[in-house]
Amino acid sequence: MTTVAPRKLAHAPHPYFRVDAAELTIGGVAVSTLAERVGQTPFYAYDRAAIGKRIAELRQALPPEISLHYAIKANPMPAVVAHIAPLVDGLDLASAGELAVALDIGANPAHISFAGPGKTDSELHRAAAAGICVNVESEREIRVLAAYSRARGIRPRVAIRVNPDFELKTSGMKMGGGPKQFGIDAERVPQVLRDLAGLPLDFVGFHIYGGSQNLRADAIAEAEHKALELAIALSADAPAPVQLLNIGGGFGIPYFPGEQPLDLKAVGDSLQPLVARAKQALPQAEVVIELGRYIVGECGVYVCRVIDRKVSRGHVFLVTDGGLHHHLAASGNFGQVVRKNYPVLVASAVDRAVTEQASVVGPLCTPLDLLGDRMELPRAQEGDLIAVLQSGAYGLTASPQGFLSHPAAHEILV
Ligand SMILES: *Cc1c(COP(=O)(O)O)cnc(C)c1O
Repeated sequence: MTTVAPRKLAHAPHPYFRVDAAELTIGGVAVSTLAERVGQTPFYAYDRAAIGKRIAELRQALPPEISLHYAIKANPMPAVVAHIAPLVDGLDLASAGELAVALDIGANPAHISFAGPGKTDSELHRAAAAGICVNVESEREIRVLAAYSRARGIRPRVAIRVNPDFELKTSGMKMGGGPKQFGIDAERVPQVLRDLAGLPLDFVGFHIYGGSQNLRADAIAEAEHKALELAIALSADAPAPVQLLNIGGGFGIPYFPGEQPLDLKAVGDSLQPLVARAKQALPQAEVVIELGRYIVGECGVYVCRVIDRKVSRGHVFLVTDGGLHHHLAASGNFGQVVRKNYPVLVASAVDRAVTEQASVVGPLCTPLDLLGDRMELPRAQEGDLIAVLQSGAYGLTASPQGFLSHPAAHEILV
């Protein structure tokens, strides 16, 4: 009998970036060249072609009847949004700041929707004036929009964001089920729909979002089918036919050792019967899936430079000019319960033979400023470039850039 030693958990292989002459390339350009182009480290680099491939893979896997929306909050860099907008069917916003980006890059307001709790009167007015769909999260938002409608003589389009009576199981972040600040509780929605009939608002449909960062096709499929059935049940009280049904998304990407990529084909296959059921029960509804990180997350890297190579009591520290102030998520402080390492490479010498155990840290005076904890890396020197992969989503704009007043990171789309 043979025994097999348990394999050390590894990061999933990266789908898009090539290594050329021992250097990581982004959009076909070596990282050291990109650093020269940018004129500084640290920076984020996003790969235009990889984003295009990603969306093509989604289109290939999902039924053609499904509309694909991009959730801007994952990466709101205007150049990135402008690149993605023509490749998807719509944009989903979470603030009036994102609305400004969407309008500036020329996105069609007919295919923009705006969700998020605590929309101010001003944000609701701006959304209505822009002619986008507001996913209302409370009865107050409905009152504010109705008053605006009367004052301006327009009819804003509204969808009801429903806080469902289920959650997206095994999600990194649950955003439905139980008491939540998101949406209107499902059991309250029938009354809200009956009240809506008397208001100067155009009801267009429902938005039902169960959660984020899910790597299990079966859990995603279950939540999407439940979202559809909930929408069908609620439509009985709707003042108009459902034209727009956003069933969420939550497609995850592998960040940590041992995680496997989502089985996209299985998700797509599970949507075939859903599309058929929607056609029969809600014949006028456009069914939307909204994705943020799945579209951009694997298409970006964060690049910083080793400033100091220190050995402290036998432990190697690569002290870089980048850290949690630019990349909070990689430091493990963006909602993670247990800290794990993102994939980190010595980008200027990916296949340098000698390996050692080293920790990659930043310049901040806090032990939280950790980009890689005791990783097996090629031996890096001062001046080497370090890349954190899986950094295209929830990077710079999800980080406390002002913390410790270090220079800002740049962003480029290659
Ligand atoms: C954050 C968010 C998204 C995007 O989530 P990803 O995990 O980036 O796909 C989509 N919809 C809503 C309502 C959100 O709040």
